[in-house]
Amino acid sequence: MRSFDFHQSGEIGDAAGALGREAAIIAGGTNLLDLMKIQVMTPERLVDITRLDGLSAIEADGENLRIGALVTNTHLAGDSRIRAGWPLLSRAILAGASAQIRNKATTGGNLLQRTRCPYFYDTSQACNKRAPGTGCAAQGGAGRMLALFGTSPDCLAAHPSDMATALTALQASVEIRAASGEIRTVPMHEFYRGPGDSPDIETVLAPDDIVTAVLLPAPRAGTKQTYRKVRDRASYAFALVSVAAIVKVEDGRIAEASLAYGSIAPHPWMNHAVEEMLVGQAPSDDLFARAGEALTAAPAPHPDTEYKRPLLRRTLIAALREATGLSESAHGVDTARIPA
Ligand SMILES: Cc1cc2nc3c(=O)[nH]c(=O)nc-3n(C[C@H](O)[C@H](O)[C@H](O)COP(=O)(O)OP(=O)(O)OC[C@H]3O[C@@H](n4cnc5c(N)ncnc54)[C@H](O)[C@@H]3O)c2cc1C
Ligand code: SF4
Repeated sequence: MRSFDFHQSGEIGDAAGALGREAAIIAGGTNLLDLMKIQVMTPERLVDITRLDGLSAIEADGENLRIGALVTNTHLAGDSRIRAGWPLLSRAILAGASAQIRNKATTGGNLLQRTRCPYFYDTSQACNKRAPGTGCAAQGGAGRMLALFGTSPDCLAAHPSDMATALTALQASVEIRAASGEIRTVPMHEFYRGPGDSPDIETVLAPDDIVTAVLLPAPRAGTKQTYRKVRDRASYAFALVSVAAIVKVEDGRIAEASLAYGSIAPHPWMNHAVEEMLVGQAPSDDLFARAGEALTAAPAPHPDTEYKRPLLRRTLIAALREATGLSESAHGVDTARIPA
């Protein structure tokens, strides 16, 4: 690990003042420290935000919730309000990492965790995300964890966060404090950037912005929520594909659908055409099969991720069957109905 300055502050303006292009925020450190040890990230200064006031609570704002950026994954997944009103979020978090990591990992850090592309972690390999302009070793290399959608010729990497996928389906927003002190909120689906020709820039954050909270809108009455994650082993593994589904069935027809897909794009993926296909229709296997075909119509950008297309189709169908009541919840899958 390279040497670095360490700045710890109890005042957010002071912390923001210490940020900049050569600095990095450290929260739980479960991703950043791993990357620093192997010199994938080499900040000259670490700005420790864990002593900032007001970022560690989950607060009600009417029927909405404000989740401070330092709320740990364990705290969030176990909160009784989350379990009752947003069980999808609890389930997605508990499907990730390990209990020890979730105890340290924070809400802000989870959103901003880096990709798991193996070439990103190997400093002997070309990687535009780690070292802009060097190329992309994944093109022509091995790549079963890469993305299906939203890639560019410069980067094929997927975003691995389970929590971010759930928050996208839940239509949450990210609260951001600029160095000037101005606070803005950005919807989850606008928070991440596609790779384009600068895959090193992953979000709309400026170098001295601090994520201060995630804002969760009130759960939609009468909906059912489910999160399905497919991975190589039953725990302690990143998703190959995941589906977060929030669906309302009324009078035998789908009245609302909000769907997000994880580990298949550089950021949690949405496809509103699929939701439009579903709304107004009676739930059926034929409808769900057509939705899966529409979702996965585009060819995979890398031959090693071709398997993700049928896997994603089947995962979507299973999630929709559960969320609409065509099938019972699978073992270990939370499908909770929000009271009408
Ligand atoms: C073995 C292992 C398995 C894992 N499995 C999964 C899994 O299955 N699913 C899953 O979703 N995740 C998984 N993770 C990732 C884990 O969820 C993240 O490491 C964790 O959420 C990061 O949070 P942190 O607070 O430790 O972030 P840190 O490591 O402190 O920071 C991560 C990044 O976020 C930035 N950052 C942190 N907080 C802020 C803020 N408030 N504002 C602006 N920038 C900020 C940092 O500068 C850094 O770039 C796994 C991790 C490990 C090590
Ligand atoms: S896919 Fe992206 S992260 Fe992976 S090697 Fe290519 S540029 Fe780097």
